Amino acid sequence: MRLRPRKQQLLGLLPPSLVQTHGPRADNAVYLSFDDGPHPEHTPRLLDLLAAQRVRASFFLVGRHAERHPALAERIVAEGHMIGNHSYTHASFGPMPLRQQVGEFDRTDEVLRAFDQRSRHRVRPPQGHLSPALLLHCAGRRRSIVYWSYDSLDYQRDSSEALRERLRAAPPRAGDIVLMHDDSDKATEALAALLPAWRQRGYQFLPLPADGA
Ligand SMILES: [Zn+2]
Repeated sequence: MRLRPRKQQLLGLLPPSLVQTHGPRADNAVYLSFDDGPHPEHTPRLLDLLAAQRVRASFFLVGRHAERHPALAERIVAEGHMIGNHSYTHASFGPMPLRQQVGEFDRTDEVLRAFDQRSRHRVRPPQGHLSPALLLHCAGRRRSIVYWSYDSLDYQRDSSEALRERLRAAPPRAGDIVLMHDDSDKATEALAALLPAWRQRGYQFLPLPADGA
């Protein structure tokens, strides 16, 4: 496993309006992103930390979770974070027909519209699975896909201390889109220890634009 996956480097060759893999490197901003929520226990703790540290980020929500926990999705938007579309069921896109993949995104757009009044949202497919057919579909519909340049590997079966030390040893750089998850407390616990030091480096933490580049 690599913190900077090669696949994302290849996707970075595509037009950024279609596939965004990193943010602008010039303005000393790091783009934290959290997938798979909202989660009734873990997401509030993360939001508390981000608010206390004056950090804004991006949340790629699973449609059925947002439907089940609307107050949390409202809170995410109210606190200045960007919400993106991470499918409705989070089922693997690998064996799924294109029509069903598109249905997952469309249904989630419907759910998310209630929170930010946007009819379409930037998408991040589950596990980042992007077939050529889905890529072409998104290009034709001008649907913006967001990847990451820095994989925190917070979904690995290790401790928050291990995650913290991995991030401390190889911190994100300006422009990085950092992949994390809010369906556990691992990222929150690691960030609680790291964010003050990253701030001292002069980083600002910004949400991704809600529209593609
Ligand atoms: Zn996911």
